[in-house]
Amino acid sequence: MRLQGAFFGALFGFALTCGLAFSRQAEVAAGEEPERPVLKAPAVAAGESGPARFAGVFYRAFDAEAAMEGARFVDRYYRAPGNEGYNATLDKLRRKLGAAGFGEQEGFGLREIESDLRGKAWTPRSASLELLATDGTVEKLHGFSSPEGRDRVMLPINAPSADLEGPVAFDLDGLSAGAVLVTEGDLNGRVLRAARKRGAALVLSSSLNDFGVDPRGQDEHLDAILFCAVSAQVGIPVGKISPRTHKRIVARASAGAPPRVRFRAKVSWSEGPLRTLVATIVGASKPEEAVATAAHVQEPGAGDNASGVAGLAQGACTLAELIQAGELHRPARSIVFIWGDEMRQSAIWLEDTKLQPVAGISADMLGQSFAETGSICLLERSPDPGSLDTLAPDQHTPWGAGQVREEHIIPNGLALIARTAMADVGLVVGGWQTFENPWEGGSDHDVFLGRGVPAILIWHFTDFTYHTGLDRMARLDGEELRRTTTVVFATALAVADLRQGDLERYFASCKLEEEMRSGVALAAERPDVAERWRTWSLGAAEWLRKMCVDCD
Ligand SMILES: [Zn+2]
Repeated sequence: MRLQGAFFGALFGFALTCGLAFSRQAEVAAGEEPERPVLKAPAVAAGESGPARFAGVFYRAFDAEAAMEGARFVDRYYRAPGNEGYNATLDKLRRKLGAAGFGEQEGFGLREIESDLRGKAWTPRSASLELLATDGTVEKLHGFSSPEGRDRVMLPINAPSADLEGPVAFDLDGLSAGAVLVTEGDLNGRVLRAARKRGAALVLSSSLNDFGVDPRGQDEHLDAILFCAVSAQVGIPVGKISPRTHKRIVARASAGAPPRVRFRAKVSWSEGPLRTLVATIVGASKPEEAVATAAHVQEPGAGDNASGVAGLAQGACTLAELIQAGELHRPARSIVFIWGDEMRQSAIWLEDTKLQPVAGISADMLGQSFAETGSICLLERSPDPGSLDTLAPDQHTPWGAGQVREEHIIPNGLALIARTAMADVGLVVGGWQTFENPWEGGSDHDVFLGRGVPAILIWHFTDFTYHTGLDRMARLDGEELRRTTTVVFATALAVADLRQGDLERYFASCKLEEEMRSGVALAAERPDVAERWRTWSLGAAEWLRKMCVDCD
């Protein structure tokens, strides 16, 4: 996931509006699971049609341990666009998909698109931060020396190599030439420019996201190092530290002389293309139309997004094997799987493909454990009336609402199908907590939406380890990854193979939603919102009818 922005324009602003019940979970005793929020998504009509045609057979065939093994491989690397870990991940995916028949068998395509990397690829090698005492003792604060090292995100993407030491200052005013600024603020352009101007040797930041507080009462967030990126032209050594380390340096300062730190960083830069990997299950009767799914490879997290990368790959192989074994028939439309650099991967595919995209699904943050992160599986809908006026049961996550205008709302039934898939997977597994949120943005679904293609995001939130060094394999739950990946595939299949027999259930669910939404709106004395939802529901039903592959 990336920072929030205006609808489809990549404006960098960070808006935060919290849905209370969503974000702030009640304090719990240390070691206990976070308290589960009480959230109820709109109801859907029961039935065996639609996603239910696929959920059970796919879920039973999906090998969660193999998917976790895939995530473990990806998690070994700090992936940045075009770097060693990024390319090693794509090579691994190619081998896995090839073994399942992609690029080998008729109707199972596999190819790569090479694009301009727009700069060099950055690969971190090692780093260390030490606190130097006047008596010569050295205290290690952070460090890593292998790709999988715990503290690897102490180096923001594009951080330069460095080997320096200097006295610490805690604000710009106290910063002299050769000193090290230790700040609770972000490594933003303004601070970095000011520090450079004062001749600072290094800037260290301990900032975290507002929602990055451990909901389990264990304060593990104090050991979190926030992952971020700086410009390749940053022109000054930079590093990220945990709040606990910041406190440690401050404690040393109050003991007398300004503390000194030693910082070493080794990184390498390489030239090469940006690779985007594309696998395709070619449709049986409408192969020219495609449902596209995308999982970004770059970024260092296990939840974000080794779980999406591995879940989508294991899922694609599972579906190929089910079709090859005749346990599932080939869908009418093609289904495309994309792995690459977030957002760019979808734009690159959309520009390159001869297929007509009919829907997009971003598979981003699929496998987080509730117990280890406090997050649950969420459906982020495309812009709809709930993005303009957020009434119960809708609420935004701490990620924050995206800016939406009336003209951005184009009725479709994609979210309704995904919501139905979530309910069906819940039935298959005997109960599962999921929820949904109106559009917020920040992942590949935005790229499809920006081209007028209905698109959704399947993710997990609120995850207190999000974009921190804590987001590693221990935060993943194989069974959660299996359930969530099944939602992605049951939704993609239900769109790619939408049949007359599915429509009755969808129309009934449309009606259920419309009645619920307009009821809530009228109770809130918002007849305008009720009207908008009526229009939406009619448009969604029309879209569903149009997507039918065997209707007259
Ligand atoms: Zn992500």
